[in-house]
Amino acid sequence: MNSLSFDLKNAMRLLCKDNRWNVLTVLMLHSNVRNRCWPSMDIITAMGSNGNRAKAVRAKKWLIKHKALELVPTKQRHPDETHLPPRQHIYQLTGIIQACNDPECDCKADGKTYAYYNVQDLKSFNGETIKSSTVEIIDGETLSSPIESNPIKDSTPSSDDVIPSTSNDDKPDTAKQENDAINALIEVWIDEQKVIDKKAYGKTGYRSVAKQLYQEGITPEDVRKFIQYRKQDAFWQDKLVVWGHIQGNIATWKAKQIAPVAPPPRPAGEPASVFDLMG
Ligand SMILES: [Zn+2]
Repeated sequence: MNSLSFDLKNAMRLLCKDNRWNVLTVLMLHSNVRNRCWPSMDIITAMGSNGNRAKAVRAKKWLIKHKALELVPTKQRHPDETHLPPRQHIYQLTGIIQACNDPECDCKADGKTYAYYNVQDLKSFNGETIKSSTVEIIDGETLSSPIESNPIKDSTPSSDDVIPSTSNDDKPDTAKQENDAINALIEVWIDEQKVIDKKAYGKTGYRSVAKQLYQEGITPEDVRKFIQYRKQDAFWQDKLVVWGHIQGNIATWKAKQIAPVAPPPRPAGEPASVFDLMG
């Protein structure tokens, strides 16, 4: 964990405006050992600006403009980040705030740079900041685009034709059963991670993953245990175990949970079966 720089005292007059400090703190609290994080705009808004999305976007834009954050280009993602949807913003915390060149800006374009993280910490973390020239400049529209409130890309068709064919007689029950199961999966995901997202149940991305999990026989208890298993890993402790990650890994994880069953003893003298030979 990084410690804060005393230099912050000089930058607080800028950070105390417009929820900038709140939003920066939300990102600090989500960031990993590489000082990177990818909370959704919903989370940033809920935690950083008391539910006001426009304010959160404005604060984020200011922080990016003043180099406190950089958006990690898709090409420069770490292997741990490649499972995230391509348009999910990944933030690199730089540890510094730099005056911009705009004389109208409240930083007064005075050329000053302030550290918010302790410089020694930044040195020890093996610098992985992005070269400013390669950073994607994103305008306000893109920052507030709906993709961020719906970070999970639909990977399954959303139409009903993926429902396994069942007799028409019990179709209403089947549909209700499936709907209940999807809600139960989302509920456990929210509960286990204390997610602040009022719209979680309505997100088509979440629902399509939950539906697929349900169809694969994954139970809410499986999801809970998988999240708990992930949280044992330091990397995941301060991060949301996202649906895309669950979708990609829970089946393999579940298969390993089932203890291998010993084959029945073979009568003496009988040749080994082909399965034994295959090991
Ligand atoms: Zn400025």
